[in-house]
Amino acid sequence: MSGTTRIISQARIEGRKVLLETEAKTICVEYRIPVTSFSLAKNESEAAKFAEQIGFPVVLKVVSPHIIHKSDAGGVMLNLNSTGAVRSAYSKIIENAKRYDSTAQIVGVLVQEMAPQSTEVIVGAIKDSQFGQTLMFGLGGIFVELLKDVAFRIAPVTEAEALAMMTEVKAYPLLKGYRNSPPADVKAIADVILNTSRLVMDYPDIKELDLNPVMAYEKGVKTVDARIILE
Ligand code: ADP
Ligand code: MG
Repeated sequence: MSGTTRIISQARIEGRKVLLETEAKTICVEYRIPVTSFSLAKNESEAAKFAEQIGFPVVLKVVSPHIIHKSDAGGVMLNLNSTGAVRSAYSKIIENAKRYDSTAQIVGVLVQEMAPQSTEVIVGAIKDSQFGQTLMFGLGGIFVELLKDVAFRIAPVTEAEALAMMTEVKAYPLLKGYRNSPPADVKAIADVILNTSRLVMDYPDIKELDLNPVMAYEKGVKTVDARIILE
């Protein structure tokens, strides 16, 4: 049984439709979608130990099946540069999460490498009642959320279609390099779209997938947040 099948069946057994970030990122790895390195800590000391193994700076995030938008819950702390900072971030995140939703089950805190700032893109999939698995591409931040500058294709897509999704969005010139920002690795972004296409075609019970954001570099990409919701 593949790792992805095992993760999805386990969520079903537990009656969960929302996969945890750890689970979604493990699936990404199986589908050759690059993600930040990560370890799930259950207490402050573990978080400090994992941070040392991963290397500073690190990011800490709440892991809870009941908290989908982690930032809204004060559940994301970036750029932590010492074990002391990691320890206090751990308890702060738990405290914030409890204040946000006192009934939320907290699985732990995810320690991950802090990906350098870059152009952020979003790759998503939604299962449309009419068209089935549909892929989405856009640039991060205001482009998708405010300007709705996105491209859609029905899955599965070819590499040419994946590239066309990118050139279609109005913000595309930003990917080609702008003032001081270097051009992004368009081929690596296309690979993320293609691998996402493969994933949602293999698992028709994925209702929603969100890689938001994916950091796009001059060479390569890194997914810093992944969310998968089952039917
Ligand atoms: P959520 O979308 O659930 O609020 P995210 O995991 O997307 O939480 O984190 C919020 C923001 O923090 C991201 O959009 C990104 O800008 C930044 N971020 C999160 N994880 C990392 C990371 N590992 N490295 C760098 N930046 C990150
Ligand atoms: Mg996010």
